[in-house]
Amino acid sequence: MQNIVNFIQKTFDTKEFIPLHEPRFIGNEKKYLNDCIDSTFVSSVGEYVDTFEKEFALKVGSKYAVATVNGTAALHISLLLADVKSGDEVITQALTFVATCNAISYIGAKPIFVDVDLETLGLSPKSLKEFLENNCEIIDNQCINKTTYKTIKACAPMHTFGHPCKIEEIKEICDAWHVELVEDAAESLGSYYNNKHTGTFGKVGAFSFNGNKIITSGGGGVIVTDDETLAKRAKHLTTTAKIQHPYEYVHDEIAYNYRMPNLNAALLVAQLEQLDKFLESKRELAFGYEEFFEATDIKFIKEPKDSQSNYWLQAIILEDEKQRNEFLEFTNSNGVMTRPIWRLMNELEMFKDCLSATLENSKYLEQRVVNIPSSVRL
Ligand SMILES: *Cc1c(COP(=O)(O)O)cnc(C)c1O
Repeated sequence: MQNIVNFIQKTFDTKEFIPLHEPRFIGNEKKYLNDCIDSTFVSSVGEYVDTFEKEFALKVGSKYAVATVNGTAALHISLLLADVKSGDEVITQALTFVATCNAISYIGAKPIFVDVDLETLGLSPKSLKEFLENNCEIIDNQCINKTTYKTIKACAPMHTFGHPCKIEEIKEICDAWHVELVEDAAESLGSYYNNKHTGTFGKVGAFSFNGNKIITSGGGGVIVTDDETLAKRAKHLTTTAKIQHPYEYVHDEIAYNYRMPNLNAALLVAQLEQLDKFLESKRELAFGYEEFFEATDIKFIKEPKDSQSNYWLQAIILEDEKQRNEFLEFTNSNGVMTRPIWRLMNELEMFKDCLSATLENSKYLEQRVVNIPSSVRL
């Protein structure tokens, strides 16, 4: 294990503490922030929000983008746009960050957990299909869960650590079963499946710009869609449902204050300019790790077939839970920050009563996957 620590220290050219993922502000960040402050438009109105939305949509190849205060808010609104209502069910993967399930729960809907694929770490089309075939039927163009009599409104797959899941297959299954596809693309800005950007396969997709993501606005998120009506609805729902008027305050429904402040958007516009550079650096880091781990009995997780990963967080698979624990202990006490993958969602107190498919792969990965330092190198 000492040789791994040595390699990582050499890779990051330091013997000091190496964090898992640090943001980098090496472009126009300060310039745009100063400009934003000078303009006094630091809050919920301003040019940087509009600029960001236009440039982001262009970057991922969607028609519209609506900026939000964080990625969880973007997911929450995305699910509402897919018509998820209180009492509905939403299928997602057991191996994900808790935000996916929180967003489902805010609506009063319930998550159902299916398995992930070993190669992608993302939602398994096979597990999804099996769950639907064994438990559901289509009645009046709705997917009805025969056990709970509830409607399965949406499926929210997640592209884990930036590695695209088998999204085309998932989309086909969703279409056949009248289930809306809502992508949690929070981790996958810069990742493509068959040359199409993640987050753009379903009706709506959500991204995050939290401090640890590939680019950051401090906190922030965005909803993408090709549907003009949905984009307008997203804007309306995230801005307290205020009817546009030069001075009057009239609102036509209960909505949310989920708008991204202009100050955060200023930072984000500068960060987006750096994205290609960041992607290149992460890819280079991944190739270095890949080569190093090839000579060990530890498996480095590579981008899946037919896809291009942003390699947001680099990850390895240890042999078993014991080796994983030893690895975490050794690296973290030797100045190299590493972290195990999430606990499965169905093991958390608040989701333990939710329906689950067989979660063989999820359990295997939960015990073995560890993230290793992944920052962009300067
Ligand atoms: C980061 C993240 C989110 C959203 O997080 P915020 O902190 O609310 O921006 C959602 N889903 C996944 C999988 C994430 O990694």
